[in-house]
Amino acid sequence: MAAGAETFDLIVIGAGPGGYVAAIRAAQLGMKVAVVEKDATFGGTCLNVGCIPSKALLHSSELFEHTAHGLAEHGVQVSGVALDLPAMMKRKDKVVTMLTRGVAGLFKKNGITGVTGRARFTGPAAVQVTAADGSTRQLSAPRILLATGSVPIQLPGLPFDGTRIVDSTGALSLPAVPKHLVVVGAGAIGLEVGSVWRRLGAAVTVVELTPGLTPGMDVEMAKLLQRSLMRQGMTFRFESKVEKAVGEKDGVRVTVTTRDGAADELAADVLLVAVGRRAYAEGLGLDAVGLQLDERGRIPVDERFQTPVPGLFAIGDVIRGPMLAHKASDEGVACVERMAGVAGHVNYDAIPAIVYTYPEFASVGATEETCKARGTAVRIGRFPFQANARAKTMGETDGAVKVIADAASDRVLGIHIVGTHASDVIAEAAIAMEFAASAEDIGRSAHAHPTLAEALKQASLGVDGRTIEA
Ligand SMILES: Cc1cc2nc3c(=O)[nH]c(=O)nc-3n(C[C@H](O)[C@H](O)[C@H](O)COP(=O)(O)OP(=O)(O)OC[C@H]3O[C@@H](n4cnc5c(N)ncnc54)[C@H](O)[C@@H]3O)c2cc1C
Repeated sequence: MAAGAETFDLIVIGAGPGGYVAAIRAAQLGMKVAVVEKDATFGGTCLNVGCIPSKALLHSSELFEHTAHGLAEHGVQVSGVALDLPAMMKRKDKVVTMLTRGVAGLFKKNGITGVTGRARFTGPAAVQVTAADGSTRQLSAPRILLATGSVPIQLPGLPFDGTRIVDSTGALSLPAVPKHLVVVGAGAIGLEVGSVWRRLGAAVTVVELTPGLTPGMDVEMAKLLQRSLMRQGMTFRFESKVEKAVGEKDGVRVTVTTRDGAADELAADVLLVAVGRRAYAEGLGLDAVGLQLDERGRIPVDERFQTPVPGLFAIGDVIRGPMLAHKASDEGVACVERMAGVAGHVNYDAIPAIVYTYPEFASVGATEETCKARGTAVRIGRFPFQANARAKTMGETDGAVKVIADAASDRVLGIHIVGTHASDVIAEAAIAMEFAASAEDIGRSAHAHPTLAEALKQASLGVDGRTIEA
């Protein structure tokens, strides 16, 4: 232990959904915990510039579009619908503030010491925290948990300038609705942020390197989502890339190159580069503890989240696996539980992932493509929301449910849902997979009527050709 340092049982570096949840669980288990966060507020990427502000704007923009165009069929006449963008942004900021303050409140409630400043190792078990004003604090603990998260990937030739060429953080705070937004990358972030601005009036072109959207997700279902988004007016340029963008006085000139080398130019007001995120472990002084990053800049860990350095652990976006808030949180809990001798565990086969577009695309487990690549024989059940009573009453019938089960055992291997409120329905699918359910189990479980979840029951029955409603 460093002389004169404040001592703890556990120091957590990073107060995102990985770090703050781990800290609270560790405190519950009786540890004396400090959390160090370099940014002014707790909550990390998710609460400050990720999940929360994006979902606040997605909800507000959906209300705007629905009020302007979606109410007449329900017999509700509205006129004079107008956008007050500053008010929408203010509300988003308020939601973020409420939640980040909530984390500070949880730290207080659980007796956790929150320390604001950048953490850097000064030796094994010893960390120096430097605050924005240059003042320093020395902390030490026998166990240190790295939860330093990730940052947006910047492409060569497309440097972020904060106004014309932006990352997701910039795109969630634009001062005006762009006439034309070009998005590089058709993953969750590009599609969600693109949806916000399209609903508010922007023309949106999404340029994607691969042949379809949401790379890695079930291809058949991704195509369903693509059709819906195209009907809403989103334009896609697949198998294309943006290598060059030149900022101009009123916008940015974007060069799009197709796979066969043909190039053309798009005039945009704003270019959002959303090609993924990379692990962030900069400035930690890992040399001082002899820790080396892997080939992708991530912190290497074993199944207990232990790095090769004794006493040093890591979780969340900074390690391998999907970059998702709930994955980071679950790892945080499992990691500190194992420190305390409790049997913490993360089942990576049952982590849901959601694209919060309209309709939403929610998924858990293996895709049809993965099963094929693994040589697993499967049976598949499908059910369209067009035939679901609740979706009909809502007038929201886009999409379908797809259940993939092992052909021999009937065990569910993957569930993929494109549809309204898919993010809620997927919770049942994740629980079913966690408990190793068969398609028959879901098909025989009572589902309240009329609900969207009945589509999951019907798709599960469809695995055995027993769908009733379609
Ligand atoms: C626009 C957007 C939308 C998203 N939407 C979703 C969603 O809907 N659902 C979902 O599951 N995921 C979503 N994500 C991803 C999600 O935000 C991340 O997976 C999650 O935040 C990772 O949590 P983490 O704790 O590992 O890291 P982070 O949340 O990135 O937190 C890491 C923290 O560590 C701090 N830190 C780093 N280095 C130091 C240091 N040396 N000293 C002190 N502090 C340090 C950082 O400042 C940061 O606060 C979204 C991301 C973005 C960008």
